[in-house]
This record gives sequence, C-alpha cells and structure tokens, in this order.
Amino acid sequence: MTRVGLYPGSFDPIHNGHIDIIGRAVKLVDKLVLGVAIDTGKTPMFDLDERVAMVEEAVAPLRGATEIVVQPYQGLTTHFAHETGAGIMVRGLRAVTDFEFEFALTAMNQQLDREVETVFLMADPRHLAIASRLVKEIVLLGGDVTKFVSADVRDRLMAKAGRD
Ligand code: ADP
Repeated sequence: MTRVGLYPGSFDPIHNGHIDIIGRAVKLVDKLVLGVAIDTGKTPMFDLDERVAMVEEAVAPLRGATEIVVQPYQGLTTHFAHETGAGIMVRGLRAVTDFEFEFALTAMNQQLDREVETVFLMADPRHLAIASRLVKEIVLLGGDVTKFVSADVRDRLMAKAGRD
C-alpha cells in the first residue's frame, strides 16, 4: 500500500519553515503531494506559476526515495486530498495562534471527509517565527531575508520589491 500525504499551502512564497516540514514529512509517507492553493483568500504577491516554480526549486534537493509532486489545486483541500489519493494531510504548527486556526480547520475538514487524517508537525524552533507574510513585509521595508528563504526566493522577493 502506498501512503500518500498532502501538504497544502499558499506558499507565497515558500520559506525555510515550509522546507523543514517537507523534509520531515517525506519520512512519513511514500509519496508527498505539495498542493499549491490557487485560491489563497488574499491577493498573493506571486502568481500561481511563480509559487509553483519556487516550490519546485526548493524541493529539488529533497527528492529521494519518497516521490514529491508539486500540484496546484482549486477548491476544497479535502476534495483535492481525495483526488490525489492522500490519506494524510500534513500541517505545520508554529504557535498557539496557529493552533486555534488549525484546530478549527481540522475539525471542519473532519466533518467534510472522515477518511483524511491530519498530522501536525511542530515547527523547528529555528523556524518558529518565519511566516510568508512577515518575509514579504521585511523585504518591502528594506530588510534582509537571507536567513529565512532560499537565494532564489530572496532574489524574486527583491525583484518584486523593486530592489534588484
Ligand atoms: P497559509 O497560507 O494557510 O497560512 P502557508 O502556505 O503559509 O499557509 O503554510 C502552509 C502550512 O505551513 C501551514 O500548515 C502552516 O502552519 C505551515 N507553516 C507556515 N510557516 C511555518 C513555519 N515557520 N514552520 C512550520 N510550519 C509552517
């Protein structure tokens, strides 16, 4: 039996906290689908193609025994989990604030689909504070995000901020 996991997110952009979760999630499943949400609930800084390209670039070094598939998706995450055959949904937890939101989301998802089990991976203490929103803000305000994202993502962020 192939265990398929789904790690969904907007990845706007992907950062070291996400990469750490992906690096750990591949140890739990045979195939990991990285679902890049088309509907993000807010206007993303990066369009879908850019977000997918950044995820592809970031996971290239993690490719090994576990198959990693990067796939955009629209609509309910539980529907997408079904489409991909994922029985496990992976989410990262940073802080108590994440917990409240994730707890509600998981409870709703359970009502929508009982076959998908959500697994939470605690953020590595080194990456606890990293959030896509903060990374974007730092770049727009003239700061350096080298510690939080890959060189490729940093360059793309700098270009968006007109700092290249
Ligand atoms: P959203 O757009 O739903 O906030 P993201 O695309 O930023 O989500 O992230 C997707 C997943 O990655 C979520 O489960 C989120 O909690 C998790 N995540 C985000 N930042 C970190 C981090 N620094 N460490 C661990 N997990 C994280």
